[in-house]
Amino acid sequence: MALLRLRQPAVAAPADRSFWLQDIAAAPATTPLAGRIRADVAIVGGGYTGLWTALRIRELAPDKRVVVLEADLCGSGASGRNGGQVHSWYAELDRLSAVVGLEEGRQLCADTVDAIAELEALQRSGTVDMDLRLNGWMWTASSVAQEGAWDRAARMTREAGADRFRTLSAEEIARRTGSGASYAGIVEDRAGTVHPAKLARGLRDLAIARGVIIHERSPVLDIRPGPVVTLRTASGELQAEKVVLAANAWLSALPELRRHLYVVDSQVVATAPVPDRLDQLGWEEGISICDSQQQVLYYQRTLSGRVVFGRGSGNVAFRGDFGPDFNRSPEHGRNNVRELHRVYPALSDAPIEYDWSGPIDCVPEHVPVFDRLAGHPNIVFGMGFNGTGIAQTPVAGRILASLALERQDRWSGSGLVGLARRASLPPEPFRFVGAKLVRSAVRRKNDAEIRNETAPAWTRLALRLMPGSSEH
Ligand SMILES: Cc1cc2nc3c(=O)[nH]c(=O)nc-3n(C[C@H](O)[C@H](O)[C@H](O)COP(=O)(O)OP(=O)(O)OC[C@H]3O[C@@H](n4cnc5c(N)ncnc54)[C@H](O)[C@@H]3O)c2cc1C
Repeated sequence: MALLRLRQPAVAAPADRSFWLQDIAAAPATTPLAGRIRADVAIVGGGYTGLWTALRIRELAPDKRVVVLEADLCGSGASGRNGGQVHSWYAELDRLSAVVGLEEGRQLCADTVDAIAELEALQRSGTVDMDLRLNGWMWTASSVAQEGAWDRAARMTREAGADRFRTLSAEEIARRTGSGASYAGIVEDRAGTVHPAKLARGLRDLAIARGVIIHERSPVLDIRPGPVVTLRTASGELQAEKVVLAANAWLSALPELRRHLYVVDSQVVATAPVPDRLDQLGWEEGISICDSQQQVLYYQRTLSGRVVFGRGSGNVAFRGDFGPDFNRSPEHGRNNVRELHRVYPALSDAPIEYDWSGPIDCVPEHVPVFDRLAGHPNIVFGMGFNGTGIAQTPVAGRILASLALERQDRWSGSGLVGLARRASLPPEPFRFVGAKLVRSAVRRKNDAEIRNETAPAWTRLALRLMPGSSEH
């Protein structure tokens, strides 16, 4: 059978890694795969999705031998680079319901509420130290065009009988965030922030403690499908009855998946610790904040008093193929620094100590998709988190575990399972050229709307082509 060729992630230079990854003490990597070994289930990718899937499989089937192959270090992908904003899926109940129907949409949202509680329990018991702070997730507007961006999701959440969102006054936003930039919004009180790399590392250690075998620095070069699948790395071979592909944006290497997946990057900066300045502003610890631009601004105050400030960059990867510029961009987060100073003028002299980027796996519906590869029922995949994964990947892990173990339950029967039902994207080079045009139009529209100006008509027209809207 034809080989499935994967791409090798460009490993970031130590200084180009995220603040989060540089902040955690280096732990020895697990040994790379060597020689020929066997597993019941092989998982490609050691981010949140792969690690949660491994944990769920061991919960359901403690006898299964589960092996994770990670190209770099666990958490070196999006999981160790993100904005650390923890919130449930209720903010996307409208999008979820469009794919899975209202009843399951509500159930999946409730599942992410359970996932947040699970994270809290892991932290409280000392099992995973992740600096979780559930002080609220604020979804705000900082211009007229952004006002009410949350209305539909908030209304549907209310109608579902879930008491998740509370309307914010301009005064509460200003008092708690220390900024007057946003003046309307809602808050999910039982949500907040996390240290993403600590979470990834903690999940890795937990998986190892629960019997999962993890080989880091083991990029999978290719996969030979069959009743027993062979995954090949530079120094070894893993044979498994079942394979889970949890390689996020790198799954764009597979043409079958690339038809539905487009990859953009998001850029983040972190200031030096300035806790006293943030105290003076009144910025509370533990809340996460985002606005409602299409290339969303998202920010948090870390435990040590740094500001971590991110935004979708507008960069798109041709054929979903990306290199080191998706680790750290040559622009060095200039746009983010400008936006940081707009939102917090008082921090305009705070030194910027870190900047980094990360790939976002986008699908047009903005909610992930799971399935088996066509013709290969023992190779399953999950992708399309669209920049929202911390409370969502624990749920993804349940779906992927059920698929891999061939269980007939509500997870394997989820409406999120089924690639054929999802929209496909135009072929290259049309997709890249179109996406470039659309993304620069998004940027111009955002910038105009922030000034409460209307974007030019041709910019608005270009946006009608867009296969989704907001992204981290
Ligand atoms: C900049 C940024 C900001 C974000 N902000 C937020 C946020 O605030 N809140 C939120 O909820 N979500 C956020 N997200 C999204 C969230 O981080 C992701 O949805 C989540 O981390 C996805 O986890 P994953 O395991 O699927 O992917 P990843 O963490 O990317 O894991 C995939 C892994 O696969 C490995 N891999 C790739 N190819 C191979 C191969 N050939 N062989 C072996 N291994 C391979 C990679 O090295 C990587 O470690 C953000 C993402 C980014 C990039």
